[in-house]
Amino acid sequence: MKSIYSFSYPELEQEMLSLGQTRYRAKQIYAWLYKRDVTSFDEMTDISKAFREELKSRYDFYVPECTLRQESKDGTIKSLFRMKDGEEVESVLMHYVYGYAVCVSSQVGCNMSCAFCASGLLKKKRNLLPEEMMGQVLSYDRLLKKKNPDLRVSHVVVMGTGEPFDNYDNVLSFLRNVNSPFGLDIGARHITVSTCGIIPGILRFGKEGLQVNLAISLHAPDDVRREKLMPIDRAYPLTELIPAVIQYYKDSGGRRCTFEYVLIKDFNDSIADAKKLYDLIYPTHGFVNLIPLNPVKEKGLFRSDEKTIDAFHNYLLSKGIKSTIRKEFGSDIDAACGQLRAKHERK
Ligand code: SAH
Repeated sequence: MKSIYSFSYPELEQEMLSLGQTRYRAKQIYAWLYKRDVTSFDEMTDISKAFREELKSRYDFYVPECTLRQESKDGTIKSLFRMKDGEEVESVLMHYVYGYAVCVSSQVGCNMSCAFCASGLLKKKRNLLPEEMMGQVLSYDRLLKKKNPDLRVSHVVVMGTGEPFDNYDNVLSFLRNVNSPFGLDIGARHITVSTCGIIPGILRFGKEGLQVNLAISLHAPDDVRREKLMPIDRAYPLTELIPAVIQYYKDSGGRRCTFEYVLIKDFNDSIADAKKLYDLIYPTHGFVNLIPLNPVKEKGLFRSDEKTIDAFHNYLLSKGIKSTIRKEFGSDIDAACGQLRAKHERK
């Protein structure tokens, strides 16, 4: 059976018309699903009993079930979700001064095999459906509301397990529901999609007419080193990626992307590397988010020390590049990419 959460707003309007109803039905149903958090059609009291029965016979309320929840001392909550077919994904809720952000997974496993990332330890099994990504956000949104009716998820980042542009249509459909005033109504500027650099996805994304933020995992200032960290660099090298980002900037009406750069001790963290990074990204108008590495001991990858991170950061700032150091959350609860699920599966 199809989940009622699988429909985008325009799709649900079409569906209602095809059932001989008016478009208004979509608005009513959406309000129940996304604003009033009901879990059955019987609760939709402004819809006639007869039509509720028809809805029941056609759709269910499937969103993945939360099977494990860990709360960190800093308030970070990491959850594991089980899907209909038994597959599991993880998500994280982070509490910032400006609100609550959910880091959403977009695939079961990931095929990108980045050397530093725990998610890639489990190969991609399948793409997630829009309702499976939405379920991750709704679960936290409802948890927050239960704690305090004034709280809600305010930011969504597609930066969990998986490569969103390897699941483009489902991710976009999910994001439209997150953003829709009839859906979760989270402002586009509060939504970020992070890609390892799939060029066709970046170019397509630039033409969507959305105000959603784009982040690009760069992690090295040249192809020789980037290839070592990220196999995708062979398909989409920097010589093609950077022009694509410039094209994205033009097509999107001047949207500036954020380059994520994980700092690895003695690998990509020297001032010479910072200069190389500056020269590389200067033409794109992009920002930089520096990420202290969660060490991967088996691969001999370690975190740069604080002084080195600060020096790298200050170099970029001195060149006028807007740059931040990523705040760390939940280091006591395996909150880094793929750690929880990987651990759970090993058991
Ligand atoms: N496939 C997408 C989204 C998932 S990875 C992408 O590549 O952008 C998102 C981010 O997780 C990466 O950019 C990286 O910044 C972060 N990440 C993964 N492993 C990490 C680790 N060991 N330490 C710190 N950050 C990590």
